Amino acid sequence: MNPRPPLPPRRRAGSLRIPSIYVGFGLTWVLLSALWRQGGSFRVDRDALVLTLFVLLSAAVLHLLLRRDEARDEVRHRTLPGPTREDADAALVEALSTARERALLNDAAVASSANGIAILDASGNVVQANAACAAMLRRDAGTLVGLHLESLMEPEPDSAEPGSDLAATPSRREFVVRQGATEVHIHMTCSPIPGPDGTLACTVAVLEDLSERHRQEERIAHLARYDLLTDLPNRQLFIEQARGAIARADRASLQVGILFLDLDHFKHINDSLGHAVGDSVLRATSARLAAQLRPGDVIARFGGDEFVVLLSSIHDSAEAGALAKRLLAVHEEPIAAGGILHHVGVSVGIALFPDDGRDLDDLLQHADLAMYRAKADGRQTMHFFHRHMDELAVRRGSIERALHSALAHDEFRVVFQPQLRLSDGALIGAEALIRWHSRELGEVSPSEFIPVAESLGLIRPVGVQVLSRAARQAAHWDEDGLADLRIAVNLSMAQFRSHDLATELAATVAAAGRSATRVELEITESMLAEDADRAARSLRTLHASGFELAIDDFGTGYSSMFALQRYPLARLKIDRSFVRDVESHASSATIVRATVELAHALGLSVLAEGVETEAQEHFLRDVGCDEVQGFRYARALEVPAFEAWAKRYQARHPGASLVLPEIG
Ligand code: C2E
Ligand code: MG
Ligand code: MG
Repeated sequence: MNPRPPLPPRRRAGSLRIPSIYVGFGLTWVLLSALWRQGGSFRVDRDALVLTLFVLLSAAVLHLLLRRDEARDEVRHRTLPGPTREDADAALVEALSTARERALLNDAAVASSANGIAILDASGNVVQANAACAAMLRRDAGTLVGLHLESLMEPEPDSAEPGSDLAATPSRREFVVRQGATEVHIHMTCSPIPGPDGTLACTVAVLEDLSERHRQEERIAHLARYDLLTDLPNRQLFIEQARGAIARADRASLQVGILFLDLDHFKHINDSLGHAVGDSVLRATSARLAAQLRPGDVIARFGGDEFVVLLSSIHDSAEAGALAKRLLAVHEEPIAAGGILHHVGVSVGIALFPDDGRDLDDLLQHADLAMYRAKADGRQTMHFFHRHMDELAVRRGSIERALHSALAHDEFRVVFQPQLRLSDGALIGAEALIRWHSRELGEVSPSEFIPVAESLGLIRPVGVQVLSRAARQAAHWDEDGLADLRIAVNLSMAQFRSHDLATELAATVAAAGRSATRVELEITESMLAEDADRAARSLRTLHASGFELAIDDFGTGYSSMFALQRYPLARLKIDRSFVRDVESHASSATIVRATVELAHALGLSVLAEGVETEAQEHFLRDVGCDEVQGFRYARALEVPAFEAWAKRYQARHPGASLVLPEIG
């Protein structure tokens, strides 16, 4: 606090009053005695009387003036004892200059404030505004004066206290100022200032720019509802929109289409070319898919390479089918990424409200099932949901549950199917094939449970168990002198992908007491297609560990003979679908003949699978096929049955037919 300025010293009371009375009486006395001396008597003429009265009056006035000053001093000194008048004047001057400095400082502070500050009159019109305020309102500071502040902004829709008189009451509200595409979001606090009489003198409005915070909030809200990579709606937003569309379609008796999309072989792109290329393929594909939609339809990314389309109101299934065809056509236009052109195919499953489900969860699940069916149909195709798919899904669920305990309960067995050399009919090998008798489900075919075991991640221990049992059995037959059989074991995709595969398999075979050189591993063309370089490395490691390598189901995939040269293969196993048709389809016969010729040219031997008839055997012999396997000779047999069959087969005299009657 500033010290109080010193006051002028106090005058002594009555110091002038007494002399002034004496002067008055003295003057009167001098006048009267002068009159007396003039005539020896009192002659009161008019002039003398006037003069006397004037003198008396002057004395009285002088007295009163002096009395008033004294009274003032008295009052001042009774309240603030001490300083003199000069001191008070000096203090006043100093106070004024301090106040001026303060006012200048205040003005500077207001002018440089980052917040907008405006002073409003009682009607809410701008009297004064700083530069920040003008900038927020997108105006020049000079043009603001006289304008009604509220007329320059729009209230935010959810701002509190709509319609209250800003200038008159303390308030906090949010506004937006629009200029073209830009928006300034403002938080305004109004503080009314009352005058001396208690009425409103002015209002101070403080404006804070919330635009950056708004942008951040909007970004967070966007991220919560849109996919980061493709900027398509995410699952959560899709679910909200689809539920709304279903409710509307229900009222209008319309249908809603849910299309489940999965890109074909996308994993291959991601694994072989890296995630950056995978991401750019995903972005480009999603943009192309989105471009096929009608206005109002929605495409969302559900994760990975899965997309879901919502057709909000359709009249029949043909409309959904037509759109699905357009989506399938994105395959035709290649996408350039990672220096390669990719033809990205898509498999589409379709479910319709209300026929295929009345709630969204059912519809999504059914569209997903239909999509899996499209994949199984060879990909790059579409499938509508049918009720029987539900049964398939239920069956798959039961298999999944039963598989979990199958290993622990030792429910798997291995059976053996003989392999014969065509030239001399010798029994040269056996393919080990898994069998599963589930406690709950009974006998389940490997074609049905192996893909499920694969998707559950159970195939690796299962595969090792098959190899171990097959190798142990073969070692036992070696010792027994039954036959020196090459044992063929199937590898699954998941096994083939594991990096320490060769070590694991070599250890398994060694532990079983068999040489890896008498074990053949069967892989399919699709395993090679996934990542050709990695596949080549894996095959070379397996080969170096001593294993023989064969391509199973040859002809159903897309491997070229040229590509096969780079792999250390021993054999091609021609798929039984070609063998089955060699008599009826000229093309199958041509394929089998060409395969044998080219394989031989590459130094590979050829085994024909699924030989069932004599005619097939003749054909294969004619084209120079090396080995055969099929029901014509024997089915896959349990160990005792296989041993009995092998003994009888080897006991037949040389040159006899390769066929033995089935064992009962
Ligand atoms: P695959 O490896 O091509 O096995 C040959 C399949 O064809 C076997 O079916 C066999 O019983 C059947 N087959 C053989 N000759 C004939 C014939 O003349 N006519 C007909 N119609 N079929 C014949 P299976 O045992 O049902 O196996 C089916 C598939 O399951 C196998 O095809 C193989 O891909 C897979 N698989 C079987 N065992 C295993 C295993 O231990 N591990 C793995 N990863 N897959 C296995
Ligand atoms: Mg096989
Ligand atoms: Mg096969």
